[in-house]
Amino acid sequence: MRIPGLVSCAPSGRRPVITPPPPHLSLETGHRTLDTPLQRPRHVHGLVGFDAVADLDVVKVGDLEAALHAAADFLHIILEALERIQGQVLLQHRAFADQPILVAPLHDAVGDHAAGDVAVLADLDDLADFQVPVVLFSGGEPLIRPDIFDLIEYAAKKKMRAVVSTNGTLITGDTAARLKDAGISYAGISLDGLEGTNDRFRGVKGAFAQSLQGVRNCLKNGVKVGLRFTITQHNFQDVTGIFDLLENERIPRVCFYHLVYAGRGNKLVKDCLSHEQTRAVVDLIIDRTRQIHEAGKAVEVLTVDNHTDGPYVYMRLLKENPVRAANVLELLKMNGGNNSGVGIGCVSWDGAVHPDQFWRHYSPGNVKDRPFSKIWTDPSDELLPKLRDRKKFLKGRCAACKWLDICNGNFRVRAEAVTGDIWAPEPDCYLTDREIGL
Ligand code: SF4
Repeated sequence: MRIPGLVSCAPSGRRPVITPPPPHLSLETGHRTLDTPLQRPRHVHGLVGFDAVADLDVVKVGDLEAALHAAADFLHIILEALERIQGQVLLQHRAFADQPILVAPLHDAVGDHAAGDVAVLADLDDLADFQVPVVLFSGGEPLIRPDIFDLIEYAAKKKMRAVVSTNGTLITGDTAARLKDAGISYAGISLDGLEGTNDRFRGVKGAFAQSLQGVRNCLKNGVKVGLRFTITQHNFQDVTGIFDLLENERIPRVCFYHLVYAGRGNKLVKDCLSHEQTRAVVDLIIDRTRQIHEAGKAVEVLTVDNHTDGPYVYMRLLKENPVRAANVLELLKMNGGNNSGVGIGCVSWDGAVHPDQFWRHYSPGNVKDRPFSKIWTDPSDELLPKLRDRKKFLKGRCAACKWLDICNGNFRVRAEAVTGDIWAPEPDCYLTDREIGL
C-alpha cells in the first residue's frame, strides 16, 4: 500500500521518504483504490491517533523538516495500521476514524495481579483484532510490573507498536536489553527538569542521575528513547537546559507536554503557565528546534497536549516561510486536533475504559465486563459519540474559532475542570480573539 506523493512506507526502523502532500489521499490495497479528499480531518483521526499518547503526540514544531519527519512517524504507524485492514473496510471511513490507540496505564502500586491490575493478554488480543496500532504502557511506573516484558512482547507479536512511558530509573543495561528483545518500539523517559528541579519535584536526590542513566542504557542497547517534560511554573526555566542535555547526550527525541488538569487534578491550574509564558516557551522550543536542525542534527521535537500549538506554529511560519507554512497546514489538517475518545482511549489499572488518560472521572465501561472494542463502539454511551461529533456542542470561542478543524476544541477535560462544562471554551488557548478570527 502506498499514499502517492505523500509518503512512501519504509521498512520498519527506517524513516519514510516524504514528498509534499497532495490535495488527495489515495489508498491502494490489492485491486482497490480509494481516493478521498483530505478536507475532513475526521478521516484520519483514528489513524493519526497521536494526541495525548505520551511521546507519540502530533508534532507542532516550527521547523518544517522536523514537522515532516514527525508526520512521517505517525504516517508510518498509520500505514502499519492500514496495512492490516482489509480492502472492504477501506471503503468505510468511520472504520478508520474509530480505531483507538490504547493507553494502558498501570497503576503505581501494581506489582502483582492482586493489586487489581487487569491488563491481560486477552485484552491485547481484543485490541489487536480491533486494529489498534499502538499500545502505550504507562503508569505510575510500568516497569514495576513483573510481566511487562511479556506484555510488550505479546503486543509486538500482535503487530501493535508497544511503547512505555517510564521514569527510567529502573532501566539498567539488562532491562534495556530485555526491552529491546521484547520488541519495544519506544521508551519515553520523564524528567521534570534539570537535576535540581527534577530531584526536588520527585523528592529523591539522585533521581535525575538515575533517569539519565536509564536514557543512556536505552541508547546503548538500541532502544529508541526520548525525554518527556511536562511544562509548569516550577520548571519552564529549564527548557533551554533540556535542549542542551538533548544535544550533549545525543538523545533523538524530546516531547514537551503542556499541563492537563482534570477532575480532581484541577488544583494543578495554578501550576500552569500564563498565556504569555506559554507563547514564550513555544517560541523558545521552535527556535531551539530550528537551531538543532540547522546544525544537521536529526532530533524530533514535539509539543503535546495543547492543540493551540498547531495554529500558533502555522501563523509564525506563515510570516517566516509561507511555502513551508502551507505544507504544515496540510499536515495539521490531516491530524485534525484533539483525539480524545476518537483515536485515543485509555484503560486504567482496574480495567475502566476512559476517553483519554486524563479523563479518569468518566468511564463508558470496564474490560472486565466487556471487551474494549465493544465498549468503544457502543453507540449508547453518553459521551463518546458526542466527542466524535463535538463541533456542534462546543461553545464560545472554540465554537467560533477559525482553527477548529486543526484543533478540534482542544482538551475538553481542561474546560470542564475550570468551568464545570465539558463544552466550554478551552481555558489554556493562548491565541488572541483576533488570531482565532473573532
Ligand atoms: S479557540 Fe478553541 S478551537 Fe480555537 S485554537 Fe483555541 S482552543 Fe482551539
